[in-house]
Amino acid sequence: MSEVDTLKEIRMVDLKTQYENIKTEIDEAIQNVIDNTAFINGPQVKTFADNLASYLHVNHVVPCANGTDALQIALMALDLQPGDEVITVPYSFISTAEVTNLLKLKPVFVEINKATYTIDVSKIEAAITEKTKCVIPVHLFGQPADMEPLMEIAKKHNLYVVEDTAQALGAEYRFSDGTTKSVGTIGNIGTTSFFPSKVLGCYGDGGALITNDVELAETSKMICHHGSKVKYYHKIVGVNSRLDTIQAAILDVKLKYLDKYYKARIKVAHYYDEALKDIEQIELPCKVAYGNHIFHQYSLTIKENRDELKEFLQNENIPTMIYFPVPFHLQDAFQQYGYKMGDFPISEYLAEHTLSLPIHTEMDEEQLGFISEKVKEFFK
Ligand SMILES: *Cc1c(COP(=O)(O)O)cnc(C)c1O
Repeated sequence: MSEVDTLKEIRMVDLKTQYENIKTEIDEAIQNVIDNTAFINGPQVKTFADNLASYLHVNHVVPCANGTDALQIALMALDLQPGDEVITVPYSFISTAEVTNLLKLKPVFVEINKATYTIDVSKIEAAITEKTKCVIPVHLFGQPADMEPLMEIAKKHNLYVVEDTAQALGAEYRFSDGTTKSVGTIGNIGTTSFFPSKVLGCYGDGGALITNDVELAETSKMICHHGSKVKYYHKIVGVNSRLDTIQAAILDVKLKYLDKYYKARIKVAHYYDEALKDIEQIELPCKVAYGNHIFHQYSLTIKENRDELKEFLQNENIPTMIYFPVPFHLQDAFQQYGYKMGDFPISEYLAEHTLSLPIHTEMDEEQLGFISEKVKEFFK
């Protein structure tokens, strides 16, 4: 048999094999919810939230329906007012800018760092005006944004900080005094997503807010539940955003394996790093000194022929993804803000040059060897 015949199908994420490896526990957890029929706010929701809070060493985890809701609820909990400005990056998944717009706040974009794909903290102060109320750094691809200098700027200008932790839950930031904190627990509120392909993913939609601030936790929880603490008595206008009990039960099982999953991802990243390090046309993912990378994505910068490489790999049944093809300032939906091509050259460059290789918890060496060989072959 040739190499290709024994090769297991390569996917960007392999949720099926991951499930099969913990099937008994997952099935039992789901069946348990069904047997008790507490589908909404069943006891598993609180159990999972408490367990995640201990895992992250944070006081409060408030579960909600998805990571986009978590961001919206965070901004609502901070009581931002229409016209307030929110600083965030133009290069990420759309949620940050989307919810800012939905709440009639104004997104103000600050360029990202070319090596880390996260906010260029040195450019934040120039974007601050009298209307600026909040900064939303995004910990992209599994790596922390540079939080220590960011928090200093926020403090100096009296700004709230909401950390979009959807891609880096469990990654740690290291402060200059050597102490570490989980990302999402450094600013006023962290938000995350349990979308199936995230590092901690459920079998549908899910999300959470993370905070050490008891008042923000209470307010967020109230907003999630139609603005009420006592059923049918509404203190404020809220939304309906809940984590399903079945999803919470699944997440509570998977939380136990999270460290193992990170290790598996990091191992894959090391393999690629070693295999691809001599290819001149490729820039490997940067590993910052101030934190760890948990590799939600393994994203390369391909200096030349990115699209040709993608097609070449596709023809070898190797899927790849472009995260992200269009920065926010060039999205049709945000034309009202008056940005134009050229405003964020690094984001624009990366949109044209980035490519993410398959990375997940169940990849084997044969798959990694095959992918690496094909990438090398393309650049030979
Ligand atoms: C996935 C993701 C979100 C949104 O999460 P959903 O649960 O899909 O709403 C927000 N921000 C980032 C960076 C993400 O990757």
